[in-house]
Amino acid sequence: MSNFKELQRQVAAYDDKMGWKDRSSHIVLHLQEELGEVAREVMRDEGYKKEPMDKAGFGQEITDLLYLTFKLANQYKVDVDEEWEKMWVRYKTKKSRIEV
Ligand SMILES: [Mg+2]
Repeated sequence: MSNFKELQRQVAAYDDKMGWKDRSSHIVLHLQEELGEVAREVMRDEGYKKEPMDKAGFGQEITDLLYLTFKLANQYKVDVDEEWEKMWVRYKTKKSRIEV
């Protein structure tokens, strides 16, 4: 049981309040930007980058990704709760990549 509807509603309400009517392609670009920020923190954590990981920042970046994911879902009227349930049905029947 998931409850993404409320989160999708919060994102829609915030966008309405701010008067944001972003193009879908711009939301995707912002998603890529946020994913890059997540990647940077992971690379820091694994030592690929010298700076220490900003753990608080990492949480923020992951959440930015979620916000934008809901924003894009709203744009296309995707019911993430419904899709989440469908995903588990798919995953339960999914074969491991190493099984042939
Ligand atoms: Mg960010």
